[in-house]
Amino acid sequence: MLEIRDLQCAYGAVSALKGITMHVGEGQLVALVGANGAGKSTTLRAVSGLAPKVGGSILFCGEDITGLDPAKVLDRGISHCPEGRRVFPYMTVADNLIMGAYLRRDQAGVRQDLDKVYSDFPRLKERRTQAAGTLSGGEQQMLAIGRALMSRPKLILFDEPSLGLAPTIVEQILSMIRSICDAGTTVLLVEQNAFAALELCDHAFLLETGRMVKEGSGRELIADPHIRAAYLGG
Ligand code: ATP
Repeated sequence: MLEIRDLQCAYGAVSALKGITMHVGEGQLVALVGANGAGKSTTLRAVSGLAPKVGGSILFCGEDITGLDPAKVLDRGISHCPEGRRVFPYMTVADNLIMGAYLRRDQAGVRQDLDKVYSDFPRLKERRTQAAGTLSGGEQQMLAIGRALMSRPKLILFDEPSLGLAPTIVEQILSMIRSICDAGTTVLLVEQNAFAALELCDHAFLLETGRMVKEGSGRELIADPHIRAAYLGG
C-alpha cells in the first residue's frame, strides 16, 4: 500500500534521512522504531508532505504522492496522528472531531463516523461539549485518534501515541491502535516504546541516524541481539 524508496530528507544542512526504503502492506500494522533523532517523525512527516524532501519517492496505492500538499495526501486517504496530539485546545471535543473530516462532503457519512467514534470512545461522547484543552493526556490522545479516523483513512500514521502517558493508559491506547488495524485500516506506528511496538506489530523497521538498518517481524526483531542490547534493555 505504501512504498518509500530511497527517501532523503534534510533540514538545511542537517540530513535527517539518508536514503531509506520501506513498505507497508495493506491491512498491516507496521512499526518504525529507533532512538531519539533517528528520523522516525521525519519519515511520517515526509509521507504527509510536511518534511523537506531532497530525493527518493513515495508511492501510495501504486500512485506517486511524492511532494503532494498535505491536504492532497489526506484526500488520497492518509491521516496523520501527530506527536504531542496537537488537539485544538479551545475548541470542543466534537468540533475537534469534525475538523478531522473537513475535506469530506458526505455529511451523512461524517455523522455516522462521529457516532462510531463516540461508541468506540465513550469518554469522548461524555465530554463532547468540553474544550479539548481540559481533557487529560490520555483523553487527548483518544481525541487525536478519533480525529484521525474522521477522514475515513486507508492508512493512519501514528507518531509516538504513548508519549507522556501512564502505563495503564499506554496499554489501552496501543490496544485501540491494534483494533483499528484489525477493523481494516492500515497502520504505520512510530513508537519510542520499542518493546510494546514490536509485540503489537505485524512487521517492523529499525532506523538508526537516518538509515534503515533492520526489518523483520516483531518477534524476529525482539530476538535480535543488537536490538535487545540497544533498545530493549538487554
Ligand atoms: P524523536 O523521537 O526525538 O522525535 P525521531 O526519530 O522522530 O526522534 P526526527 O524528529 O525525525 O527523529 O529528527 C531527525 C533528525 O532531524 C534529528 O537530527 C533532528 O534533530 C533533525 N530535525 C528534526 N526536525 C528538525 C527541524 N525542524 N529543523 C532542523 N532539524 C530537525
